[in-house]
Amino acid sequence: MIELTRSGLVIPKINQVLKSAPVKIPKLCPSCSEALEWESDFLMCVNHDLCPAQVIGKMEYFFKILANNDGFGIATIEKLYEHGIRKISQIYALSASDLSDMGFGDKTSTNLVNQLKRSTNEQIEDWRFLAAFGVVRMGMGNCENLLKTYPLNEIFELNLEQISAIDGFAELTAQMIVTGLKIIQTEFNLLSRYRFNLEITSLQKNLEEFAHVLFGKKIVFTGKMQGSRDKMKKHAKSIGIKILTSVSAKTDYLVVGEKVGQKKIESAKKFGVKVLSEEDYQAMIERQMQKNSLQLSLN
Ligand SMILES: [Zn+2]
Repeated sequence: MIELTRSGLVIPKINQVLKSAPVKIPKLCPSCSEALEWESDFLMCVNHDLCPAQVIGKMEYFFKILANNDGFGIATIEKLYEHGIRKISQIYALSASDLSDMGFGDKTSTNLVNQLKRSTNEQIEDWRFLAAFGVVRMGMGNCENLLKTYPLNEIFELNLEQISAIDGFAELTAQMIVTGLKIIQTEFNLLSRYRFNLEITSLQKNLEEFAHVLFGKKIVFTGKMQGSRDKMKKHAKSIGIKILTSVSAKTDYLVVGEKVGQKKIESAKKFGVKVLSEEDYQAMIERQMQKNSLQLSLN
C-alpha cells in the first residue's frame, strides 16, 4: 500500500510505502509470452514487432495522436488485428468492402473509410503526424522542436551529431531518435502516399531572420494573384506569418490581388487594416531577404 500524489497529467509520484507486500514480478510477457528484460527501471517485452499488445497499441496510438477522426478506437483496432492487419499503412489501404469482409457492418465500413479520408484531408501539424508514429523519445514536444530546426523531408537524413546539437536533445535521446527514425522510415513513406494535409512548422532560423518585419503578423490574402495564392500562403507561413481567412480587427495586413471582393476592402477600412498590393507585399519580403541576404526562394 503506497501513498502517492498526482497533479494534472503528470505521472503519479510515490510519496511513501505505507505497507509493504511481496511483489510477484512476471517473467514472461502477458501478451506474447516472450521472456521479459529489464531496461533500467523498466521491465520490457522486447518482442516489439510481434507482440500483439505492442502492435495493437502502436496502431491505436497513431489515431489517438492524430486526434482528427473517430472510429479507430481499441475495439476496432483489435478486430483489424484479428484479420491480419499489423500496420497503419495497411489500414489506409482498406476499402469498405475489405472491412465488411472482416465482419464490420456496411454502415460502419463506409463510416470507417470516410474517417480515414477525413484524417488525411483535415489539416494537422506536421509534428503531430510525426509523433503519431510512436518512436521512443519522439513525443509531440520533441517532434515540434525537431521540426523547428529541420523540415520534415530532411529528418530521415539527420545524424547523431545534428540531432544532439538541437537545444534540449541529449545524446542518448538523439541516438534513440536516429534508430527510431530508421525503423519507421518505410512505414512513413508508405503513409506519405496518402497525402496527409500537413501544416508545416516554421523553421526557427527563418523566423529569427524575419522576426522584425512580418513575423507573427496576421495577414489575409485575397483576390487573384499573379503567382499562385497557395504558394504565397505556404511561403508566408514558413516565415512565421499567421494566415487568416477573413478580415477582422485582429488582422494586420490585407494583401490584395486582382478582382477583389468589395466586402473585404470595406472590412479592412472599417477595422483600420493596412492594405498591400501583391507587388507591395512581395517587395517587402524581398527587401527583407536582401537585408538578411537570405537564401530563401519565393517559389
Ligand atoms: Zn510481448
